[in-house]
Amino acid sequence: MSVLLTVLAALIATGACAYHRSSLRTWAIVTIVTTLVVGLLTHAPITMIVLLIVELVIAVPLLNLGFRRKQISAPLLKVFSKVTPKLSDTEQTALEAGTVGFEGELFSGKPDWHELLKQPKPELSVEEKAFLDGPVEQLCSMLDDWQITHELADLPPEVWDFVKKHKFFGMIIPKQYGGLGFSALAHSAVLQKLATMSATVASTVAVPNSLGPAELLLHYGSDEQKNYYLPRLAVGEEIPCFALTGPYAGSDATSIPDYGVVCKQVVDGVETIGMRLNFDKRYITLAPIATVVGLAFRLYDPEHLLGDKEDLGITLALLPRSTPGLEIGRRHFPLNIPFQNGPVRGKDVFAPMSTLIGGPHMAGHGWRMLVECLSVGRAISLPSNATGGVRMAVAGTGAYARMRKQFGLAVARFEGVEEALARIGGLTYATAALSRATAAAVDRGEKPAVPSAIAKYHATEWGRAIAGDAMDVHGGKAVQLGPKNYAGRAWQGVPIAITVEGANIMTRSLMIFGQGAIRCHPYVLKEMQALSIEDYSERLKAFDRALFGHLGFGVSNAVRSFALGLTGARIGDSAGDAYVRRYYRKLNRYSAALALCADTFMGVLGGKLKFKEKLSARLGDVLSYLYIASAMLKRYEDTGRPEADRPLLAWAFHECMWRTQMALDGAIRNFPVRPVSWLLRVLVFPFGRREVPPSDRLGRRVAAIITAPGEARDRLLEWAYLTPTPNNTVGRMNQLLPDVIAAEPVERKLLKAQKAGQFTSHDYLGQLDEAVKAGVIDAAEATLLKRVREGVFEFISVDDFDPAELQSAMMRKDAKKLADAA
Ligand SMILES: Cc1cc2nc3c(=O)[nH]c(=O)nc-3n(C[C@H](O)[C@H](O)[C@H](O)COP(=O)(O)OP(=O)(O)OC[C@H]3O[C@@H](n4cnc5c(N)ncnc54)[C@H](O)[C@@H]3O)c2cc1C
Repeated sequence: MSVLLTVLAALIATGACAYHRSSLRTWAIVTIVTTLVVGLLTHAPITMIVLLIVELVIAVPLLNLGFRRKQISAPLLKVFSKVTPKLSDTEQTALEAGTVGFEGELFSGKPDWHELLKQPKPELSVEEKAFLDGPVEQLCSMLDDWQITHELADLPPEVWDFVKKHKFFGMIIPKQYGGLGFSALAHSAVLQKLATMSATVASTVAVPNSLGPAELLLHYGSDEQKNYYLPRLAVGEEIPCFALTGPYAGSDATSIPDYGVVCKQVVDGVETIGMRLNFDKRYITLAPIATVVGLAFRLYDPEHLLGDKEDLGITLALLPRSTPGLEIGRRHFPLNIPFQNGPVRGKDVFAPMSTLIGGPHMAGHGWRMLVECLSVGRAISLPSNATGGVRMAVAGTGAYARMRKQFGLAVARFEGVEEALARIGGLTYATAALSRATAAAVDRGEKPAVPSAIAKYHATEWGRAIAGDAMDVHGGKAVQLGPKNYAGRAWQGVPIAITVEGANIMTRSLMIFGQGAIRCHPYVLKEMQALSIEDYSERLKAFDRALFGHLGFGVSNAVRSFALGLTGARIGDSAGDAYVRRYYRKLNRYSAALALCADTFMGVLGGKLKFKEKLSARLGDVLSYLYIASAMLKRYEDTGRPEADRPLLAWAFHECMWRTQMALDGAIRNFPVRPVSWLLRVLVFPFGRREVPPSDRLGRRVAAIITAPGEARDRLLEWAYLTPTPNNTVGRMNQLLPDVIAAEPVERKLLKAQKAGQFTSHDYLGQLDEAVKAGVIDAAEATLLKRVREGVFEFISVDDFDPAELQSAMMRKDAKKLADAA
């Protein structure tokens, strides 16, 4: 017994030091003292001596830096140098671009919640609010999405003029160049509001404000280029597009076959150094109407006109539309969301070196420029458009499910529909918090490479899930296209959001964890960087520091993961109020589990992990859900911990934790080295999988929130265009919603009387008259029911068309020709 007690005491001391991440020195002192004290108290001298020997054998060499570096780190450095895969330039660039924000804490296994909560609350300025309430509101009132998507396949001229005049294309351009100079949050809010009315308009506005000529010029342009282009781009005098993708290079954009060769040509009688360009690009948004084309190509200098290098690498230029040989104009047709999109081609197009963004010295820096700028645009455009879309799904589906009656009840009352409504409400809460978090990161000056990938992937995937649920709840109403259908086009366009700015399968399986693991890990990047230090002794020192930091980190995460698993995350640091304290502890638990699994996977599989995309994707999911849950907790704090929002927060949080558990479980279960998998299972899930999805009761509360006006619903609908203008069916439905709800008890009285056979009339109005006469309802109630019946009829109606209206314009022309000939 005394032997057991002594061993146990030494183990607990070691575990406690590892849990709290004590230094090696502290661990040595604590365990040696504990062993001595407990050994003496329990009279176990032999066990005590054996344990002390073991502890000293570990501590002495590790604490003797000179010995440790020479005997342990130096041989390991040799092995490490051999096995570490050499990073390609592309990978190196991707890793170096961007910054690490709170996601780094989540990867640490011991997040510092005060770091999260002390971040300033993101808010719009007075000017930005005025823009949302002014021009954006006005633009929304002008949009007829059916006209845009079906009749014109374009924005009407007055919308183009309005957008240009009010500088919607210049949100990211600073005021000194005539732009709006908006914060990322305002930029996001504008896109969200536009997306609630038209995906086509939101995409059209998003592109010039995302990765493209303006953004690239702002960061790398010469003064001359900035002064010329930026004021013109701000007011839409120039319409930009950016052409990277081609038939042979989609996701793997670095493999573009488009090229330029440095050459000389006489221009206006002067011999000029320039490039002869050959390119074939497709899918380029705004290309058909662009006046300036940003072009990515690989530049070669075989005659060494620029310097020694022959293959200069990916390079970016801005070509005016008038450039001879530049061929643009035709259109693609992306899934009935007809924003301008088309191919761009050129054969032997001559462009002077002055067209290079930033000038000739930026030749070959194109990939770095793109990757550095990508995270900012990606953190805003797609997440914001998706968030606008899901907010509108809440407004439309929540109201419709309350208005649409079947079996004598609002369909929202059926449990099956309630389940879909709960998903819509809960995932919208999560999506909105996520897109706000990434916009706020940009406003804090971060370049959120990993969070932007998380936001792009999850906002669009949840957008897809919500669009599907919204369609299902609407039934035939959303299937029949026409001006009255406010859901069908959004659902049709979902795959566009899934594909652009990093197709989702690749984003999930390659980018989120792939970048996150190395960028956010506190030691891996340091170990890799240590390898490239020229001076051997400095290299060894840096490697030794990173390696032993890493080992301590690994042990700590194993202990933390196990301890937090054993206690069901009931111990440890926390923050927030009593309602969410447990949530923070759960995040601590899974943060430690993620760090442990990530380290183990990387350590055991090394470079092969890159190709184990299914494992990498699952660990990326874990990082994502932890990030999203943190964003929701921050939002809860920033909004003053509103009690009304708790069902939404709870639903979304439990969903994230359940998904986190399933992703971790999947990753561990499928890990190819079985003993490692078994060990991880014990450390991560000592009592098995205990997380459960949100309960049905919680789902009912969420469904109730989104189907009735209220404080929490209003927050969920922030920045949705709900003004009940004639073009806004959802706005008008929400205007009628209080009446619909007020009418429900009256309808119940009517139904009861009907079932009791009190009416002789077969039509609704006749029954109302009879009900008033019989005193079942009063006259005011009858008026309310009539108003609601009329209002609701408009919203459950669908369109029908003359067959000729549905024929394509071409067929109509042919039919007219035939008719004329006859
Ligand atoms: C409407 C629209 C607008 C666009 N606008 C522009 C624009 O303005 N400018 C521009 O340059 N480009 C634009 N694009 C191009 C867009 O960025 C690409 O479509 C995207 O990068 C994917 O390329 P791809 O379509 O050729 O798919 P592919 O690269 O052929 O991919 C096919 C599938 O394979 C998956 N995949 C590929 N590699 C991997 C991997 N390593 N691991 C896992 N999965 C992988 C992808 O996720 C995808 O699911 C646009 C595209 C569309 C559809």
